[in-house]
Amino acid sequence: MKSAAIRQAFLNYFEERGHTIVPSASLVPENDPTLLFTNAGMVPFKDVFLGRDPRPYVRATSAQRCVRAGGKHNDLDNVGYTARHHTFFEMMGNFSFGDYFKPDAIRFAWTFITEVLGLPKERLWVTVHHSDEEAATIWVDEIGVDPARVSRLDEDNFWQMGDTGPCGPCSEIFYDHGPEVWGGPPGSPEEDGDRYIEVWNLVFMQFDRDANGELHPLPKPSIDTGMGLERMAAVMQGVHSNYEIDLFQALLAAAAELTGHADTTTPSLRVIADHIRSCAFLIVDGVLPSNEGRGYVLRRIIRRAIRHGHKLGASGTFFHKLVAALDAEMGDAYPELRQAREQIERVLLKEEEQFARTLDHGMGLLEAALASLDGEVLSGETVFKLYDTYGFPYDLTADVCRERGVTLDEAGFERELEAQRQRARAASQFGGDYEAALNLEGSTEFTGYDRLEDHSRVTAIVDA
Ligand code: ATP
Ligand code: MG
Ligand code: MG
Ligand code: MG
Repeated sequence: MKSAAIRQAFLNYFEERGHTIVPSASLVPENDPTLLFTNAGMVPFKDVFLGRDPRPYVRATSAQRCVRAGGKHNDLDNVGYTARHHTFFEMMGNFSFGDYFKPDAIRFAWTFITEVLGLPKERLWVTVHHSDEEAATIWVDEIGVDPARVSRLDEDNFWQMGDTGPCGPCSEIFYDHGPEVWGGPPGSPEEDGDRYIEVWNLVFMQFDRDANGELHPLPKPSIDTGMGLERMAAVMQGVHSNYEIDLFQALLAAAAELTGHADTTTPSLRVIADHIRSCAFLIVDGVLPSNEGRGYVLRRIIRRAIRHGHKLGASGTFFHKLVAALDAEMGDAYPELRQAREQIERVLLKEEEQFARTLDHGMGLLEAALASLDGEVLSGETVFKLYDTYGFPYDLTADVCRERGVTLDEAGFERELEAQRQRARAASQFGGDYEAALNLEGSTEFTGYDRLEDHSRVTAIVDA
């Protein structure tokens, strides 16, 4: 079953059950400065759950584009390392705004998976929050799931969009990809493996968490669910990795051609194929590469992709050329992508040209530093120099180091940043034109204060 068919089957199924189909919202959350990007299907409905945004329906369903590359849900570092994480993915969801609750939500999901998609029950496992006897009882007594396949977990089964906002206990459905893949069932010591993959999360929205961390009951208990389209496509297409599904084939082939590296299972190619999706859609939604906030996250993803291309031997600019393949793959489902195609290509090309000026030198410095390493830790000074002089985002250096089994002195890097901030402050107190000096000195795109102010946010993103 193709991804597009799964997407459509999901929406039809819930429409038949009284849900209004709502189009995907932007990746930039509306009126929500607390959230970096739309990271789940419920984000556009946040105020509906809170009772502040009345809608003409109490049931909705959507295919929501999501980015998890910063903030509370950050999968940037997972991409290229797990079979199931993307920076950009589509989350299929059904929502009840004070209408149905646990029993219907569980039954809807189970019926869709086992009857519409026809997945064998022997492959399915579920989890519930340890305090949620009600959900456990529904799974066992009403649905008939073997109690040995119901695990009771703690933090993993309490879902929250961010540090504040709607949240609640949840129940997740896992698919067992079989003994050929390493991993154990949820709750077991081997759960981090990729054998048992979480495909669907049912959140029982009951609380609104305020800025002090306190939970307040929502006006009415509600339902928010999220099923990862790419993960379900992997299951339905009989492949283990998300990167083997139909949606990725053309992208991987294009990336292989552009980099001259034919083996499409190479992690770097997967990273590139993943990153073009998030970068393109972020630009569609109005984000531009910059040195702060959302724009800096976009810049980090682009530079990470470029570095992986460079690693595979790509010469010259290549990343922007993938937009054509992406458009061919996703432009039908997302006309806004097709419409913005040229603009996306322009933005990416400009960013590639800028970074090309420092990438080689930065990589040279990094390689030399790695070669002369006597301990296992790359010094904070080096990480800072790469950042400051060569435009290497922290996570890009971390990504290279991870490939070599080397860790970074993060605290040392932070100290360097802080020292730079202090110097800037001191200079401005003396009325010196420090900002102008930095601007002059930087023949690259970096400018003094942009760069400095950016650090606090960068730090926050790194910490998240
Ligand atoms: P995991 O534990 O595997 O990281 P999660 O618990 O963080 O997943 P949820 O926040 O519950 O995921 O999101 C709902 C669903 O969205 C997941 O069950 C999964 O199918 C899908 N999903 C989550 N993160 C990603 C991702 N980075 N890439 C692709 N699909 C994802
Ligand atoms: Mg996760
Ligand atoms: Mg999980
Ligand atoms: Mg989950």
